[in-house]
Amino acid sequence: MLHRKHKQTIICMALVLCTLAVSGCDYFFGPAQEESVTEDAVLFSTFVQIQIHEWPQGTDPEKVISEAFTEMESTGSIVSVYDENSDINAVNRAAGESVAVSEETFYLLQKALEIAEMTGGAFDPTIGPVVDLWGFYTGEHRVPADDEIEEALARVDVNRIELDEDARTVRVPGDMRLDVEALAKGFAARAGAEHLVKSGITSALITSGQSSLKAVGDGPEGRAWRVGLLHPRAEQDVYAAVELRDGESLSTSGDYQRYFTEDGKRYAHILDPETGYPPRTMQSITVVTPDTVIADGLSTALFVLKPEEVLNRVEQMPDVSVAMMTAEGRVKYCSQMEGRIELVDD
Ligand code: AMP
Ligand code: MG
Repeated sequence: MLHRKHKQTIICMALVLCTLAVSGCDYFFGPAQEESVTEDAVLFSTFVQIQIHEWPQGTDPEKVISEAFTEMESTGSIVSVYDENSDINAVNRAAGESVAVSEETFYLLQKALEIAEMTGGAFDPTIGPVVDLWGFYTGEHRVPADDEIEEALARVDVNRIELDEDARTVRVPGDMRLDVEALAKGFAARAGAEHLVKSGITSALITSGQSSLKAVGDGPEGRAWRVGLLHPRAEQDVYAAVELRDGESLSTSGDYQRYFTEDGKRYAHILDPETGYPPRTMQSITVVTPDTVIADGLSTALFVLKPEEVLNRVEQMPDVSVAMMTAEGRVKYCSQMEGRIELVDD
């Protein structure tokens, strides 16, 4: 268990990083501020941050961060449903026809199919019509009628996405709509990390959006990065600290990041492709695994499942660690998470 004093420290970091759902907390082992460089930006409508702690002589860390931001911006916006000019929106506009897409988009769609397979369809990149119905694209939120949900769900089916690897084209049926928003932040973090590694950076942490982190190298002085997980019902508080090592990614999905309330009920932005409704079995889930896109996709998908089912599923995934805050406010984690998580004692 962490001591109260440490808990306060993590909270301070969480505040510094604004409203981040997951906050990088290197305070415990952090070097003096002048030995590290941290930059923030808003890219593809998302708050991002890169902190670099070690760089080769002759390298300008600020320039490397600025270049990494450029990579993240182009990668994030090419797949975002919120960017009119994205590849994903081009596929959606031309639904019914094959559309040529960039290598990055094609790769991401292949990953999306992989994650759908890994999670028995809890992840569905064709969830778009349902997300739209609940007003999450426009911000005009409402609880749809049952027949509307039924109609939208008839247009959701990951198996109907056609990927042609040779031509690098994508086709979805005319009434369908892709949404890979659940992977965009992780995908952008991956691109940023690739640039940092290419530039010889040996210790850095990327935060992408409210939820995705990527470690490049270990933390300062070769120690693990420590990340505070925000409490879903007390957002300036953390409920646990999780260790991240070189190359590992962390992603959190929850019902407190984007949601609306009606008649005292909370409706969050992650939707169950079986029912068309927001699931209610947990408040948040955090996934740690090497692949940043898999981390991002799994946190979204596993949020849909029941905590016991999540634990059973990840037993077959040795590379994946999860921690959850259940709907009842209890913390559960899998055996792979033991040794890297410390619960905050309050
Ligand atoms: P994240 O914040 O990474 O958990 O992603 C949430 C976003 O993914 C939502 O805002 C939707 O655009 C999309 N989404 C919602 N439910 C699903 C689902 N079951 N499978 C795939 N994407 C989803
Ligand atoms: Mg996600």
